Amino acid sequence: MSKHIVVLAGDGIGPEIVGEAVKVLAAVNEKFGLGITWENQLLGGAAIDAHGVPLPDVTLDAARKADAVLLGAVGGPKWDTIERSIRPERGLLKIRSELNLFANLRPAILYPQLASASSLKPEIVAGLDILIVRELTGGIYFGQPRGVRTLENGERQGFNTDVYSESEIRRIAHVAFQLARQRNKKVLSVDKANVLEVTELWKEITTEVGKEYPDVQLSHMYVDNAAMQLVRAPKQFDVIVTGNLFGDILSDEAAMLTGSIGMLPSASLDQNKKGMYEPCHGSAPDIAGKGVANPLATILSVAMLLRYSFNAEAAAKCIEEAVGKVLDQGLRTPDIYTEGTKKVGTKEMGEAVVAAL
Ligand code: NAD
Repeated sequence: MSKHIVVLAGDGIGPEIVGEAVKVLAAVNEKFGLGITWENQLLGGAAIDAHGVPLPDVTLDAARKADAVLLGAVGGPKWDTIERSIRPERGLLKIRSELNLFANLRPAILYPQLASASSLKPEIVAGLDILIVRELTGGIYFGQPRGVRTLENGERQGFNTDVYSESEIRRIAHVAFQLARQRNKKVLSVDKANVLEVTELWKEITTEVGKEYPDVQLSHMYVDNAAMQLVRAPKQFDVIVTGNLFGDILSDEAAMLTGSIGMLPSASLDQNKKGMYEPCHGSAPDIAGKGVANPLATILSVAMLLRYSFNAEAAAKCIEEAVGKVLDQGLRTPDIYTEGTKKVGTKEMGEAVVAAL
């Protein structure tokens, strides 16, 4: 079966980091005989400059036909003042919803070599390996009605609707349980069932789905406690599943436990495990074009792509181990540099990973 990827370099540091990630992809493609092909398309500011819109039809068509999408990052000051409906970020939201990418997977892994980069004590975070599964296409970010209305007394009132149907909860719960089976077989479902009916249903349905996975241990936690536990004792967690709003906040909190946003990949999957893979960080306009951006988050996104969309576990592991080796060699981009290690640029880091494969 041939496998095709659409590569969207995007803006800012996007082309620099994606360039290195594609070198790694090419190397494992050859090493493991994966038969993967890829093409470049435009998204975000680069697409606005070329076509006047952040998600041109040609990009969306190519992404629909492809088996997976690899993205750098979009956005930058150049496009911050244009009309809101055609800003770069709109292209990103649209491609996620057009491809129905409802399951957002954000691992927070702390490489032992980088334990001192975290703001928490090394003994609390060393060896951390959490996977946050966030529902991405429902909940309060999409619920209707929404808006700002004027009340009879003339005061304005803002409102949003947090809404989840049983089927939306069920499908994301299945994703979490299936992933837990490949890991340490523990799922924590995060809700606020003591206050919000929508999450009372969330808790009920995840419990129901959990019965289909008797080998996976399910527990529940209120979101306020989960936020606290994440900084108190994060290693107690394996897979955390939650809705769009709580997931947005908790995944950023978990990311910061690792201390280095330049290291964190992510995946957004549809029902058939087609996915879009991207680093958790943005386009970093402050360092774009300087050759110093950390390409490892994007390189690790390639590993996730191979694992989840192409079932190529050996190739995925090979990339992750190669990243471990370059860290062992002491190579660091400036964002993860500490005294006694060797500072390298984007290209040097990418090439070191290829050499270590
Ligand atoms: P950012 O993640 O781009 O940058 C935050 C800080 O982290 C900056 O100091 C940056 O230099 C640093 N950083 C980020 N990635 C790095 C890397 N790989 N190596 C080294 N350092 C890195 O967030 P921001 O500054 O809030 O946003 C910049 C632009 O990116 C905005 O236009 C924003 O809308 C966009 N953005 C895009 C995405 C996306 O495409 N998924 C996500 C977040 C932000």
